[in-house]
Amino acid sequence: MSARIVVLGSLNMDLVVTVSRLPKAGETVMGDRLGTYPGGKGANQAVAVERLGGQAAMVGRVGKDSFGESLIRNLQTNGVDSSGVGRDADQPTGAALIIVENGGQNMIAVAAGANLAVGRAEVERAEARLRPGDLLVMQLEVPVGVIEQAVAAGRKAGALILLNAAPARTLERSLLRELDVLVVNEREASILSDQPQPAAAARALHGAGAKLVAVTLGAKGCLLCDEAGVRSVEPYQVESLDTTGAGDAFVGGLAVGLGSQLSSEEAVRLANAAGAAASTSVGAQEALPRPGDLHRLFGLDVPSYGNTI
Ligand code: ADP
Repeated sequence: MSARIVVLGSLNMDLVVTVSRLPKAGETVMGDRLGTYPGGKGANQAVAVERLGGQAAMVGRVGKDSFGESLIRNLQTNGVDSSGVGRDADQPTGAALIIVENGGQNMIAVAAGANLAVGRAEVERAEARLRPGDLLVMQLEVPVGVIEQAVAAGRKAGALILLNAAPARTLERSLLRELDVLVVNEREASILSDQPQPAAAARALHGAGAKLVAVTLGAKGCLLCDEAGVRSVEPYQVESLDTTGAGDAFVGGLAVGLGSQLSSEEAVRLANAAGAAASTSVGAQEALPRPGDLHRLFGLDVPSYGNTI
């Protein structure tokens, strides 16, 4: 039986307009046409897992509206078990308003909506889906109090707990202590640990109790810290086009690697490959790689998930 990866987190509809330059306050700029893309770190990571051949179940909350409907359908299309996604009668589906300057910077405002109504019911749905040895994967786009409850529920179920502490914020030490795996980018690591240097941050976060810490460094790969200390895991060289979703691909790859009983180093290497591959094409979910992509780009073979214990 293979480990199941239960993702408790956010689902958003990303509404994207591309313009020739970003508007100033009070200004209107004309764009082309509206792009609507399924997103939210939670849903992205669940899809990332399935793309790589893992078995993902999503737990979260959307509204009773057409965005919610299509986010659930999108999970199903990607093979994710969506039975843990609830429909909130009062809150609208989460949405991100994204303005992208042609080939450049962007501006993003997120209306969290139903993601902020994630609570006890979702913790219970997550717990019901976890068996000993499964992975519980979470991010910080749902209330942090719920994460704390879910960590306790995941422990009780005998699951491994992976937290991607994004977006950046500080967290209680009591929560860090309970984590089997913590994934953060450079900025998140520095805010969480109060250490500007990534290696010092990785060491501090491991010292605070997270058993395995991965600090992602974009084109520089990542740092890994566990009881054997900090080491660097080399990046895969790619022609990067759009790094949106690279972090989510990394988390998905790491979860699949750990769920397939790879060693920490091997799992992080798979995560690096998934992140690098995601950065070679545009978009968040559309860019998430399949095993064939990792083979074509890097000659890397993803373990066949169904054959693991
Ligand atoms: P986030 O998007 O969350 O800030 P990063 O930019 O650190 O995350 O990217 C996550 C991972 O994706 C990196 O650790 C690395 O493995 C991979 N990655 C991202 N950008 C590149 C790149 N330009 N070249 C190679 N790998 C990359």
